[in-house]
Amino acid sequence: MTENGRLKVINPATEEGIEEIPTTGRAELDAVAENAKRGFEEWRGFAGLDRAEVFHDISRTLRNGADELAEIMTREGGKPYIENHDEVTWTAACFDYYGEIARDNVGYLPAPIEPQQLALVIKEPVGTVACIVPWNYPLLLAAWKVAPALAAGNAVILKPSEETPLATRRMTEMVEGLPEGLLQVIYGAGDVGDALVRHPGVDMVAFTGSQETGRKVGVAAAERLIRANLELGGKDPFIICDDVDIEIAAQGAVWAACLNAGQVCTSSERFYVERGVARDFIEASRAVVESLNVGDPMDERTDIGPMINAKGREKVERHIGEALSNGAKLIAGGERHGERGFFYKPTVLTGVEHSMRVMSEETFGPVVPIVEVGSLDEAIAYANSVPYGLGANVYTRNFEKMLRCMRKLRAGTVWINDPLTDNDAAPFGGQKGSGIGRELGREGLEAFQESKHVHIDPRVEKKEWWYPYGPGEDPGRRAM
Ligand code: NAD
Repeated sequence: MTENGRLKVINPATEEGIEEIPTTGRAELDAVAENAKRGFEEWRGFAGLDRAEVFHDISRTLRNGADELAEIMTREGGKPYIENHDEVTWTAACFDYYGEIARDNVGYLPAPIEPQQLALVIKEPVGTVACIVPWNYPLLLAAWKVAPALAAGNAVILKPSEETPLATRRMTEMVEGLPEGLLQVIYGAGDVGDALVRHPGVDMVAFTGSQETGRKVGVAAAERLIRANLELGGKDPFIICDDVDIEIAAQGAVWAACLNAGQVCTSSERFYVERGVARDFIEASRAVVESLNVGDPMDERTDIGPMINAKGREKVERHIGEALSNGAKLIAGGERHGERGFFYKPTVLTGVEHSMRVMSEETFGPVVPIVEVGSLDEAIAYANSVPYGLGANVYTRNFEKMLRCMRKLRAGTVWINDPLTDNDAAPFGGQKGSGIGRELGREGLEAFQESKHVHIDPRVEKKEWWYPYGPGEDPGRRAM
């Protein structure tokens, strides 16, 4: 961690600096952790209904501030303004949802050992939760952690990505009604994130980011024996069956691949098309890709903004370059756009092999690599062949095929005919190497709760299985 270090925020559309902000030093982190404890204690005094009211106020504030927040997000992250505006409203919806479901119940009653006893399971907060998020959906991915963590009664220390700290800072300035110290933001890169996970004042970490960083966070959390929820990268497959309208499927496919310039954890990155419709699908995808406007993300006509930085674009170029030099065919795109900014044209490839990185590693760019398959089972086998398992998409009208995909695809979410649609009320997360744990839905709240079993016997009586042991005593009555 750099004491007195600074974070330089760049506009990826222009490559110009926006603002420099100081990173959080060790002494400051200690103070933040202390404040979190105080906020936590005060938050305990809030009834569920009062917490819900605070959450609904936060939601209203975010919706009212959506224009301002979306503009900041667009300048620092490069995602088109319209997508950022949507992100703010989804962020608000997440606070509404958790404000309500956290009131639903605070535990349950299991059957007691004896009828006159009472057994309770009480759901309690874990303590102070470190929430570490990436740059691609800075407010939404923060809300998926912060809202359930607070709703469960925890305090939160939030670390936004070093690429996109400004919208998060503004959002937390806008938020009112929470006890002081309950929600605090710290700033910095991986060194600050690492110091946060290792800080003795942190009781749990909720992380979204790359597989590589997730592994480091998981190891650091394991060393401290604290809980870690990990939402990691993906290499999502997209299967197109021969019974659908190919124009619609191609539009859905290109959107799923190119949304946010392909920088979505659930971006579709591999396309498997049944043979009979493959040629039509390739042609339709080319036409859609070539109709897209790449440019200034503040312009409402823009479909695709810049990538986040030079490093991200270079990775896309490496994957595409390697594929082309090994026999893949370029159908559209395949080059940078403009002189300034980290723009890359949406790209369609055919003739790709699974040995190529564009088919096996996360590319995180606007690329549609297409493979022709002889059957649905072949597509499913390919889909399951990588060590990731975040999402999977299917286009079909055939119910039997829907069910086969639902059962066989190894992914945290399977979308059929409606790519990449998240639902606050349903769990989100990865199977295999795409993560550990779930966000959203009931699971997303339980992730931030401890279970306490309370066993009450109202009678103060000597139990027959206590000492002294002796002949005639029934071992079946002995406690564990
Ligand atoms: P990243 O892993 O580089 O960084 C994520 C966050 O972790 C940042 O805030 C970063 O500063 C912090 N960090 C870095 N090193 C750390 C360390 N050692 N300890 C603690 N924190 C550390 O990821 P990124 O480039 O910001 O985001 C892109 C990645 O995120 C992609 O792989 C994408 O698939 C993934 N992602 C996953 C989901 C999901 O829900 N599964 C959602 C969005 C993005």
